[in-house]
Amino acid sequence: MRSDNTLYVVVPCYKEEEVLPETSKRLKAKLTALIAQGRISPRSRILFVNDGSKDRTWPIIEELHARDRIFSGVNLSRNRGHQNALLAGLMTAVQYADMMVSMDADLQDDVDAMDRMIDAYHEGYDVVYGVRSSRKTDSFFKRFTAESFYKLMKAMGVDIVFNHADYRLMSRRAVEGLSQFKEVNLFLRGIVPQIGYSWTTVEYERAKRFAGESKYPLKKMLSFAFDGITSFSVKPLRLILFLGAVIFGLSLIMLLWTLIRWIAGATVSGWASLMCSIWMIGGIQLLALGVIGEYMGKVYSEAKARPRFIIERVLNDKDND
Ligand code: UDP
Ligand code: MG
Repeated sequence: MRSDNTLYVVVPCYKEEEVLPETSKRLKAKLTALIAQGRISPRSRILFVNDGSKDRTWPIIEELHARDRIFSGVNLSRNRGHQNALLAGLMTAVQYADMMVSMDADLQDDVDAMDRMIDAYHEGYDVVYGVRSSRKTDSFFKRFTAESFYKLMKAMGVDIVFNHADYRLMSRRAVEGLSQFKEVNLFLRGIVPQIGYSWTTVEYERAKRFAGESKYPLKKMLSFAFDGITSFSVKPLRLILFLGAVIFGLSLIMLLWTLIRWIAGATVSGWASLMCSIWMIGGIQLLALGVIGEYMGKVYSEAKARPRFIIERVLNDKDND
């Protein structure tokens, strides 16, 4: 067992007024039990990050903190998205905690898996990934899109842990490592493996969201996948190069063929092939330009290096046991 064992559970919340009362109850029960077993210190906290929700999410967090010091809160100045909210929570927690567990507010991640994560931490691991053993409770559509997502990422050369979302434990030095990654286009699942240190996985069953709606509709998921790929891999650019080479090769064959037809004196026919080439080459060019433009956009936002989050207020009572 390690003696530095203050745990902060970081929970990003966006419009989660429906789930917070239950989530806070369950997390408190978990932490209280872990404290009683001596596996984490009594200074451990549950840190809710309000990601600019306009509903009662922040007032609920304030109430929880006022009633019980085990609850802490961070209020962001506006909505910055799940990844940035999580980062804000981790960067706040790292000032007080020895280990940090990140999880969603909707309790889809099995709270009990935390025990095994903490065991792994005590065994000396710096990063423990929560991995879903099955997706029985997800709809076919969600399962299909999510699994395609992991496969696409792999194919595009992004190193991520299969079926791992953002339920993970990180030691303080792992989070300090994370703080050195300054990128604005944040894709934590891709960054965390790049920090290094010893890591392991813990399996758990993913449950259904017990209240409220998913904040990740298809549109957000697609842009998430796209961001993930373009932030971690230049493979798409290489594909364009490859495509260009193939088309150039084909064009040489076409040239030869055209010459032969011209010599044979049959140059009027070929309207169809001309039309097809024009449209296809035009389409491919636009597509390639779009991909390059996407990377340009990334460079643009990284060059500006705007803050990834701005904290409006922190509620934390770090010393009180
Ligand atoms: N979330 C957030 N900011 C956002 C969107 C979502 O902090 O702009 C939080 C949300 O409150 C939840 C987590 O991110 O705790 C995951 O969201 P959700 O459960 O809706 O995603 P899903 O599980 O459906 O992929
Ligand atoms: Mg969810």
